[in-house]
Amino acid sequence: MSKLIAVPSRTKEILEKYGIRAKKGFGQNFLVDPVIVEKAAQMSHCEGAVIEIGPGIGSLTEQLARHSRHVTAYEIDPSLIPVLADTLQEYDNVEIIEEDFLQADIASKTKELKEKYGSVSVCANLPYYVTTPILFRIFEETDIPWITVMVQKEVGERFAAAPNTPEYGALSVESQYLFDVKKLFNVPGRSFNPSPNVDSVIVRFERKPDIPDIDIKAFFEMVRGCFKQRRKTVYNNLKEYLDDREAALQVLEKAGIEPKRRAQELTCDELLKIYEALK
Ligand code: SAM
Repeated sequence: MSKLIAVPSRTKEILEKYGIRAKKGFGQNFLVDPVIVEKAAQMSHCEGAVIEIGPGIGSLTEQLARHSRHVTAYEIDPSLIPVLADTLQEYDNVEIIEEDFLQADIASKTKELKEKYGSVSVCANLPYYVTTPILFRIFEETDIPWITVMVQKEVGERFAAAPNTPEYGALSVESQYLFDVKKLFNVPGRSFNPSPNVDSVIVRFERKPDIPDIDIKAFFEMVRGCFKQRRKTVYNNLKEYLDDREAALQVLEKAGIEPKRRAQELTCDELLKIYEALK
């Protein structure tokens, strides 16, 4: 068995062999820390099938292949496809799809994998420039119960933030409405080649059972409206969102929310009350 991919010397060797330079435009930073990839895979509930976004040269994919029955990995960069065929040749449970994850039919793929392998999870070191759109596709278009991702530390803090903290915003409400969000551990810049200027964190989203059956896109839109200008009161933001003063006051009264409060003081449940009053 060859050396692990996620060690500095092997990664360097692979990058040199294929003349690869990490592409900033694709958010490429390759993990070179075997402990981190192992821990991420172990904690991701990937026993059945696991979907990875952006396998890069295969550092995390390798650990996922060892821990799960099947890995489906979407890679946007065509130049990495032959590299992955080489680095992951020992693993016959890995399917690499050369595609932009944001364009992929993930609902059908999830269904297919669930039928075949019993369960589907997500585990990825996400490209930073598309972290939020990727996560929201998975949140809204699949019912995947466990999503474990490495993201920039600041972004991870926003996902996991509690009300009345500077990081708390629409992103926190939207993710915590659907998931229990847990920061697992920090990953320093030196764990990557090339090292990014910022630290990262691994965040795990566990889908909540029994989420009220509402139009989540409409709810999220209203939440974004309530947070639009953070310094304004919820009344002022809602008034602009609805383009109607009276309606905004009535909705807040019906929801039992004091109009002078600001969105960052409101819990997810309180924002849901506003949405329900609106409907
Ligand atoms: N998983 C590898 C690792 O941990 O070493 C690479 C992670 S790197 C931060 C992000 C990876 O996502 C790169 O391989 C990049 O080419 C790929 N990527 C970027 N945008 C993508 C997209 N829209 N769809 C699929 N892959 C994408």
